[in-house]
Amino acid sequence: MSDSDCWGRDFALLIIEGVAPVSSAHAIAMEDLVVQALFSPCRLFKHGTHRPQTLGVSFNAPAKALQQLYQSFESQKTLFLSEAPEIIQMASHIVRLSLEDHHTDPYYSGLEGAALDVLEWCISAYGALLNPRSQVKLKVIPMDTVTKGFSLFARRDIPKGSYVWEAMGMVPADNASTSTLLSTTETTAEQNQPSGEERVLYGPVRMINHRCKTYNVAFAAHDGTSAFIVYALRPIVMGQELTLNYGSGWFEESCPCTDCTPLECNTGRISEQMPASPRVPGPAQSILEDRFHLVAELKAELKAEGVALYREQRRQESESRRAEVMKNRANRRRRNLKKKKGGPAGSEGDHTVVS
Ligand SMILES: [Zn+2]
Repeated sequence: MSDSDCWGRDFALLIIEGVAPVSSAHAIAMEDLVVQALFSPCRLFKHGTHRPQTLGVSFNAPAKALQQLYQSFESQKTLFLSEAPEIIQMASHIVRLSLEDHHTDPYYSGLEGAALDVLEWCISAYGALLNPRSQVKLKVIPMDTVTKGFSLFARRDIPKGSYVWEAMGMVPADNASTSTLLSTTETTAEQNQPSGEERVLYGPVRMINHRCKTYNVAFAAHDGTSAFIVYALRPIVMGQELTLNYGSGWFEESCPCTDCTPLECNTGRISEQMPASPRVPGPAQSILEDRFHLVAELKAELKAEGVALYREQRRQESESRRAEVMKNRANRRRRNLKKKKGGPAGSEGDHTVVS
């Protein structure tokens, strides 16, 4: 297991085991708020952003609440890049406290403690995706020719069979009645639940998109908790999208996944299923611009890190190849020398005797 796997596991266990049971309603409201506030402006200026309805069909959080969450998160962002999982957890707690303290927006002062717990958990789980040690990152991609949505991508090569701890999800205490599209999975025997029952998941695992055939990860239940993570069914290379099979019959009529409908032919079946989009509720333009620059800087950093990692791997590979060649050459020389010494009389000079 590599260091990065250990980091992901330590982080996941820290926040999975510290969470109390929550309701689906809290999970849905708080998770979408966190994702929208922390990640939505990524591509706003260059390529146009996603539709917030890809997060939740009825998503419409107050712009001011989003702005406050974003500002509180930004002021602690360096802590989310820490190598110590505990620091990320602490940073999320600081963000939560600052939202509770301000009372500038009635949205947060009106929240129950349980909702704030989910908020804090989601800030930890999603904030950790910005950490260079995380195996995955969140990106905005086209869902069809009309809609853009979020997806998880590999930040580095992920070997077959390894767990992607950062792509975790939690099951709320209540589930079936409030389950939404793209947020449910079937229960497993490991967690002693009646099989076939639908349940809501919250957490980054929810951002993994469905494929009917070409999926590359599968769910793994974390025993003794209500957590799911995923593991790689095949090697996943750096930059590749993580995809899951949600189960047969997931999409009742026509499946919008790119296995069934190539992206260039898919003229917005996902978006047709959504209500008409209100304008993207977002913070003020200047804040978005600041945000965009910060994200661009971070991206450049991460890219540089990826390039450095790639170069180092290539260097090590070529070094080991070179060592191999040298070893073979030395062996050959030794063999030839031996042959010369012990070879039949008459063989001389550089001529090699072929038997
Ligand atoms: Zn499909």
